[in-house]
Amino acid sequence: MERITFYDTKPYDKIFFDKLKDSFGFEIDYFENKLNRHTAVMAEHSDAVVAFVNDTIDGETIERLYQQGIRVIGMRCAGYNNVDFQAAYEKIHVLRVPAYSPYAIAEHAMGMAIMLNRKLHRAYNRTREYNFSLNGLTGFDFHGKTVGVIGTGKIGQAFIDICLGFGMKVLAYDPYPVEREGVTYVELDRLCTESSVISLHCPLTKETKHIINKDTIDRMQDGVILINTSRGALIDSEALIDGIKAHKIGAAGLDVYEEENEFFYEDLSDRVMQDDVLARLISMPNVVVTSHQAFLTEEALESIAQVTLQNLRDYFDGRPLPNEVCYQCGKTGTCRKKGKQRCF
Ligand code: NAD
Repeated sequence: MERITFYDTKPYDKIFFDKLKDSFGFEIDYFENKLNRHTAVMAEHSDAVVAFVNDTIDGETIERLYQQGIRVIGMRCAGYNNVDFQAAYEKIHVLRVPAYSPYAIAEHAMGMAIMLNRKLHRAYNRTREYNFSLNGLTGFDFHGKTVGVIGTGKIGQAFIDICLGFGMKVLAYDPYPVEREGVTYVELDRLCTESSVISLHCPLTKETKHIINKDTIDRMQDGVILINTSRGALIDSEALIDGIKAHKIGAAGLDVYEEENEFFYEDLSDRVMQDDVLARLISMPNVVVTSHQAFLTEEALESIAQVTLQNLRDYFDGRPLPNEVCYQCGKTGTCRKKGKQRCF
């Protein structure tokens, strides 16, 4: 029975992994600490580690894990921008969960858009104080409006389905378009200019870092609703604040934030917030921040546990690793998955 060190554990993760671990033949040591160069030592007597989006899996962390005999990391998430793949190559296999429930994230994105448009977050607070005034709560119909979707992979497509159901016109931007009825692919400029709602569903890469910046914000319609459930650094947060203060951006729904690692998933309610940008955003009546929770449905958690443990079982049993990623993988990469269909 192989032993797994599980980092950044939350009670909701544990429930689903505990249900399945015996059937996959694993013992799991759960730790609340995040994985980084200092905590790598906790995996000293393990055969594998399981990590998450805000762990710091840089070159140093990888080297320490490797020196301790770790040869595989199971990421219990889809995104992997926190992994130094060049450092991991030919040392540690990195497996991920490419899709668990694109609907969970797409539904959360639309939920935020509706909440902000119809000011449900403000209405909730008002009626709790018996303030039944409607002043300042006017929204607009989504039906007939244009939504801009940046990144039309699994989540982007699920979000588009919802938007089409709402009777919205869909503009999309993606270097790898997937032609489908009801969706018009356009350049980013046009998407910014014509959309009443913009939702981000592309991964964080060198090309997409700050894809929403002063220039793109300047091109947007006044009052645009901006939703980010993808990765925080897609948006230049300072430019976002300026755009909101200038009434260019009508509302922002942020499930992710550039500097979220230190804060998200923790209860910091008894401390003074040290991040002035995050504090400023949270203070705004037309901004809603959720703590990277768009994935958090029972279906997604069950699927994450199932696929993460299956990935690791495949590794230990010498089977092909369809969910392995390396720095050469991807649409523009050259990885052809070599022997046993593994990256190396
Ligand atoms: P995916 O790989 O299926 O789709 C990503 C799409 O983005 C692809 O179609 C790709 O061509 C496109 N893309 C790549 N570069 C682009 C660019 N420069 N401009 C526009 N589009 C570009 O991934 P997915 O499963 O749909 O997930 C999308 C992102 O959602 C992930 O990378 C992750 O960061 C984020 N995510 C967030 C949560 C959450 O809980 N908030 C959960 C899962 C995933």
